[in-house]
Amino acid sequence: MLKVFKFGGASVKDAAAVKNAAAIIKQFPKDNLLVVVSAMGKTTNSLECLVDAFFYKKDTLETIYDEIKKFHVDILSQLFSDKSHAAYAQVENDFVELQWAIEDESAHSYNHHYDQIVSMGEIISSRIVAAYFNEVKSDCLWLDARGIIQTDNTYREGKVDFELTQQLAEKELVPLLKQHKLILTQGFIGGTSENFTTTLGREGSDYTAAILAYSTNAESVTIWKDVPGVLNADPKWFSDTKKIDSLTYQDAIELAYYGATVIHPKTIKPLQNKNIPLYVKSFIDSSAQGTIIKDSNKHLPIPSFIFKINQMLITISPRDFSFIAEDNLSKIFGLFHQHQVKINVMQLSAISFSVCVDMDDKKIQPLIQTLQNDYKVLYNDALELVTIRYYDQSTIDRVSINKEILMEQKSRYTVQLVVRNNK
Ligand code: ASP
Ligand code: MG
Repeated sequence: MLKVFKFGGASVKDAAAVKNAAAIIKQFPKDNLLVVVSAMGKTTNSLECLVDAFFYKKDTLETIYDEIKKFHVDILSQLFSDKSHAAYAQVENDFVELQWAIEDESAHSYNHHYDQIVSMGEIISSRIVAAYFNEVKSDCLWLDARGIIQTDNTYREGKVDFELTQQLAEKELVPLLKQHKLILTQGFIGGTSENFTTTLGREGSDYTAAILAYSTNAESVTIWKDVPGVLNADPKWFSDTKKIDSLTYQDAIELAYYGATVIHPKTIKPLQNKNIPLYVKSFIDSSAQGTIIKDSNKHLPIPSFIFKINQMLITISPRDFSFIAEDNLSKIFGLFHQHQVKINVMQLSAISFSVCVDMDDKKIQPLIQTLQNDYKVLYNDALELVTIRYYDQSTIDRVSINKEILMEQKSRYTVQLVVRNNK
């Protein structure tokens, strides 16, 4: 049976991490493995700076490029002492391609260039990791994910064509899986019908693992992380967190959607649709049990809560004191959709509509300007959104210590609070 593994940026952040990933692979000698890797460490952030420097013609362009290249060549040289190893030439070729991508005049949109440039992080990472896996467990096949995962041309947020992707997987990938016990490919990237590269949204490698598992009817997906599994709160903000052994797809999607960074929210749907279990396990302690996400009727055993920072609360009211009814709402939703602003929480009163959104100036400012043509718009920024699943009063008290609550919404299982830190 086929297992899909995903190694994120932290699990391939340096030579030691790549060696550790290889050691994990070796623990599964009998299995057919399809491995998805992300860009190494914080490479995607560096590549985002490179895109900015390219598009806005900044003089930092060369320095950023050189740093990215040095980072990867250093890892290579720690993995392969023989400088004539084929991996060096492959990575060199990829950097030539990256150089080309930043030499062109910017003929397309920012987002289009973003995808052609930023995707190179995954391409280069996958070359290095595949070459190393090949050394320690011979016969690791490198596969270009863009030949399988097909998307539309919404750059930076490619919409996956599942039907076409599944057809390509059946035709191209399934036969390869019969010949190779280990195949390695890239997370986060896809291809369009015009052969351009798209990306699936930041942190999208988990989603890739789910798409490939869906398309090949894999037995399971395992995401290898630097945490022991899914915890009931983010250990970055709270001490005294508890690991959850087992989670339903529904609880997982609710937690991920509202900011639990442990899994990308889009990951769950393809897995749920084919009833494929998802394991979240530690790459530091690979034999520990981790968390399993699967179909079950047992909901979370304890209240779980998530903080999403950098939130903004926008209140929109018609200038003429008319009601916020369906006609106004459909117009407002249309504008949010047009500006690609996702609503995290919303609340309605007679003459106002409040929404909590991620603070992304590039998108929000134009949206607010457009809204102001017809509505009065008030907003607060630098807020936090707290979501508690299976809430109780003591958890609400615990998360709202020293915070001012600006908006609160309770449903049967979930409470959401938009809060401001009282300094
Ligand atoms: N490398 C991409 C990112 O950092 C995708 C991923 O890590 O999942 O967003
Ligand atoms: Mg990542």
